[in-house]
Amino acid sequence: MSKVIYLTEHRGPAGSGDVQFAGADALPAQGQPARDARARPLRDLRISVTDRCNFRCTYCMPRDAFDSNHVFLPHAQLLSFEEMARTAAVFVRLGVRKIRLTGGEPLLRKNIETLVGLLAALRTPEGDPVELTLTTNGSLLARKARALKEAGLSRVTVSMDALDPALFARMSDTDFPVADVLRGIDAAAAAGLAPVKVNMVVRRGVNDGQILPMARHFRGSGHILRFIEYMDVGSTNGWNMAEVLPSADVIARIAEHFPLAPLQTDPMGRVAERWTYADGAGEIGVISSVTQAFCEGCTRARLSPEGRLFLCLFASRGHDLRALIRGGADDDQLAAAVAGIWAARDDHYSERRLADTPDVLRDPKVEMSYIGG
Ligand code: SAM
Ligand code: SF4
Ligand code: SF4
Repeated sequence: MSKVIYLTEHRGPAGSGDVQFAGADALPAQGQPARDARARPLRDLRISVTDRCNFRCTYCMPRDAFDSNHVFLPHAQLLSFEEMARTAAVFVRLGVRKIRLTGGEPLLRKNIETLVGLLAALRTPEGDPVELTLTTNGSLLARKARALKEAGLSRVTVSMDALDPALFARMSDTDFPVADVLRGIDAAAAAGLAPVKVNMVVRRGVNDGQILPMARHFRGSGHILRFIEYMDVGSTNGWNMAEVLPSADVIARIAEHFPLAPLQTDPMGRVAERWTYADGAGEIGVISSVTQAFCEGCTRARLSPEGRLFLCLFASRGHDLRALIRGGADDDQLAAAVAGIWAARDDHYSERRLADTPDVLRDPKVEMSYIGG
């Protein structure tokens, strides 16, 4: 069994105060986004609201590592909704235009719609609302979809790795029925959180036999199915390159039955490569983080449940913004600190993995269930 290392190495002592106060000269010019060391603008913020989850997907929170002895973050260490919204406002000022709530399972955080409401009220310097989305395993979605929409959520992404009930149960390591996840997806669409994106992590030899059934099921439904390459996030899932099915193979398998045409996507901020069914039955996407790294367009910052700022999904450490927030920093000081951290960002892990830099795969990495996808 692998150790869940983020409890020690990644977090450091609580409130370690590694983030220094920066001067106003760290701030970008008025109307300009913060840019990192590779000139990538700060455009997206993912906020992980909890490290807890009611599933134990084998590729994310394997039960032998996340068992009853696992210590989750105590509630007092989590950022409050007000602290999250205040931090998000600072990011919006620095260029963020899209915010995604994630986890853990974000719908487990009590009264999450209150946070959605606070974030929906944010305005860009141009006076526009931000695009506000949430990624969920769907288990609580049928119950919560309407309240989330009313609070101001724009859309949802639902993770679902198989239609086959037994395989779904094995992959999510839960007895929650896949039929209820499907009901959650429909409830979200009915509530106006559309189009719903459905994320399927593909593991060769585990659920690649579900690619066609999933494609068939969601064709023509208005939902957008997206296939994600299995990634080497964290250090507990025993990732192995042999289990990665390249997205090009996924597209080839589907196109054999349903002809596809590529759609254009802006490389900056792009995650998925988009395809459309030639017969007009809708759109699918592939997220090829392993075989086709897209670091050069990566505009995403990630905030952990207790206020650590991570600059990459594969980072070894986060910057302790909570110490600043709770230490009395005002918004200008917080903005200058974040801009300074972003300006120094040089992360490009997936490109290094592709280039096969020998030390890359040995770096300690934050857990996916802690930082969100
Ligand atoms: N619990 C929510 C869910 O499952 O949608 C949100 C958090 S989950 C960590 C976010 C996304 O990360 C999910 O779509 C999940 O499938 C994906 N994910 C987790 N571990 C992964 C891995 N090893 N490779 C690729 N995607 C992964
Ligand atoms: Fe939970 Fe999402 Fe991770 Fe599955 S992928 S264990 S649902 S956090
Ligand atoms: Fe962004 Fe890091 Fe993923 Fe590259 S590896 S796309 S820098 S999160």
